[in-house]
Amino acid sequence: MKSGHTINIVEARKNYGALAALNGLSLDIKAGQFTVLLGPSGSGKSTLIRSLAGIEKLDSGSIFFGDREVNRGPINLAPEKRDLAMVFQDYALWPHLTAYENVGYALKRRKLSPDRFKSSINDALARVGLESKGGNYPHQLSGGEQQRVALARAIVADPSLLLFDEPLSNLDADLRERLRIEISTLTREIGASALYITHDQSEAFALADQIGVINKGSIEQIGAPEEIYDRPTTRFVATFTGTAGIFRGTVKSLSKKGCTISLGKDLIKARHTVDLAIGETVDVLVRPAATSFSTQAANRIDSVITDIAYRGRGYEHAIQTKYGTLTGVFDTISHARGRKMEVSIDPEKCIAFPSEASQ
Ligand code: ADP
Repeated sequence: MKSGHTINIVEARKNYGALAALNGLSLDIKAGQFTVLLGPSGSGKSTLIRSLAGIEKLDSGSIFFGDREVNRGPINLAPEKRDLAMVFQDYALWPHLTAYENVGYALKRRKLSPDRFKSSINDALARVGLESKGGNYPHQLSGGEQQRVALARAIVADPSLLLFDEPLSNLDADLRERLRIEISTLTREIGASALYITHDQSEAFALADQIGVINKGSIEQIGAPEEIYDRPTTRFVATFTGTAGIFRGTVKSLSKKGCTISLGKDLIKARHTVDLAIGETVDVLVRPAATSFSTQAANRIDSVITDIAYRGRGYEHAIQTKYGTLTGVFDTISHARGRKMEVSIDPEKCIAFPSEASQ
């Protein structure tokens, strides 16, 4: 197993007219680390991944692979000299080549013996479970199989960096989950560093060693998935990575451990990652995992069930409280619409930010 590139992106800038697609973005990826860049459409993800691939020029800033500066402003090392491979959303297979030939295409410039050439391709196809489909053309393969061929093509030359551009977006939910696991396993098996871009937070949390949350061309926060989920440092990061609902309230008291927020007649405890002042108006962002119908837990408020969705392992409820709605309140049994229930909100998974109205 080889070790992947160490990547350092330093103050990358790219403008399209007045629009800053990359706004002084810096990011480090350790050798062999799986990094996911998570952000909404238009936040600059594709521009960044294309710059890493060498198919987009920066206006200014640098990208280093190890000690080698591969982008210095608009000066680029050619894509084929970067020892990387990319997997695209639309598979990008040659339609007139078989699966075997598509994978072999990535080995063309390697001077391998015919035996080695053949065994490398067959090995890569076997690793993605397609050993029997090498003779099929892309139109004779399902979407999932085509993406597996693209994955085999990406790993066949044993690159030091794998780039993934929303590779699961065109697939059905069930297949997406299976292929996500294959991507995760294969990438780690070959020891490559990886950068994966997506707007899907569950995909990001499932795959990443580190997640960078990108907004308007720069990284808002970077860290382990648990750190991003438990300690979001900006409101944008907190909302983009998932909330069950938001309650507006006033800061009643503050301590090192957290804060108490007055929502009207109820007080709830929450945490904060930015400075707050007593009396300040705040928005309490409630994580879906914070809510339950447990009667043992603290932070309980009255609610009425407004909707129920069956999720296989149990039921997710939407509820109405005096202070707003919450969605995704989980229980293994279902509770009828209109039923009054107390909902508990885990203070560790509620994060208070200065309210947008007061900023
Ligand atoms: P994402 O991948 O996160 O959706 P992009 O990197 O594709 O974001 O785009 C970032 C911003 O740059 C968007 O506002 C997009 O409209 C703009 N943009 C991207 N490519 C071009 C281009 N070739 N010409 C003009 N604007 C572009």
